[in-house]
Amino acid sequence: MTTMATSLRQGLLPAFPVLWMACAPPSPPAEPPPPGADAHEGAAYEITEVRPGIWHAVGTGAMNVGANAAIVDLGASLLLVDSHITPAAAWVLLEELAPLTPKPIRYVVNTHFHFDHIHGNQVFGDEVEILGHQTTYDIVSSGGSVSGTAWDGFVATLPNQIAAIEAELQAAPEGEREEVAARLARMRAYQEATAAIEPIAPTITLDGKLAIYRGGHEIQLLWKGRGHTPGDVVVYLPERRVLITGDLVVFGLPFMGDAFPEWGDTVRRFAELDFELVLPGHGPPFEDRQKLLNLADYLDDFWEQARGLHAAGTSAEDAARTMDLTAHAPNFPGLIEGPGAPQVAVERAYRFFERSE
Ligand SMILES: [Zn+2]
Repeated sequence: MTTMATSLRQGLLPAFPVLWMACAPPSPPAEPPPPGADAHEGAAYEITEVRPGIWHAVGTGAMNVGANAAIVDLGASLLLVDSHITPAAAWVLLEELAPLTPKPIRYVVNTHFHFDHIHGNQVFGDEVEILGHQTTYDIVSSGGSVSGTAWDGFVATLPNQIAAIEAELQAAPEGEREEVAARLARMRAYQEATAAIEPIAPTITLDGKLAIYRGGHEIQLLWKGRGHTPGDVVVYLPERRVLITGDLVVFGLPFMGDAFPEWGDTVRRFAELDFELVLPGHGPPFEDRQKLLNLADYLDDFWEQARGLHAAGTSAEDAARTMDLTAHAPNFPGLIEGPGAPQVAVERAYRFFERSE
């Protein structure tokens, strides 16, 4: 997951040429729209065909869709990577995808268990298989997508976030009221959509690798170690040299509230693959392999410093203030402006050291 502020910093607004924009007359799925699906104005997604038969769907900001998604043409059907943040967001994706391709979605991949990547699962019928790592199944089926660090930090605080925007609206000068009111409407629609969530776990799981051969292509689902979560699955399209990374690799700096110390090594294993395009779970697509290595170096440095500070008896609060990751600032423009590290990341590291989860 990522907060709204970091989404913006990570460049959630697309920078790539738009080959198709969701403005054609919608062909909605047969079921009535879920709560919160019809509150937005204009397209919720910018869907870009990044390679023939491969699309990247990025939220426009018109509604809260959470993470990016990717769609892969399988010949007679489609594979969707990540189902967004709510049933409403997934439903609207299908609505906006329909004018682009009439093919049905046959597989949904859950790259990991975070709420912003999987809570659209429930809009898909029994004929759609949901693929994910075994630990993703274990976590989601035991309620872990509607509890824990990511959920508590962002979704459980929704009433407070909405109250804060209501207060902001009260105090807003005339010229800013329209923007604040629109933001409030988006948050209320998101809250309504969130109330309709019934978490659905993967129906087919993998531990290391699963391959699908469809449409003359190979689609690999790969797990190469713990990282952003215990079960990060990356979708690799070897002939087309595309990696779809979920949050194991994002455009900027990732959320680290459920992270593992070996994350950097896991990313390096993926960096060894033959690819030329990365579709991340947040932020725009990119081609620079070095970004993976830069992220791995940042993660290793974070964990090494956290381990040292923890061993020295430094409190998590002090560690979050004093840790120095500024050496990586040139690799993450605008994201590291001085000493310190995200508190949620340090708290997670300390929990890991104390419990060896
Ligand atoms: Zn995530």
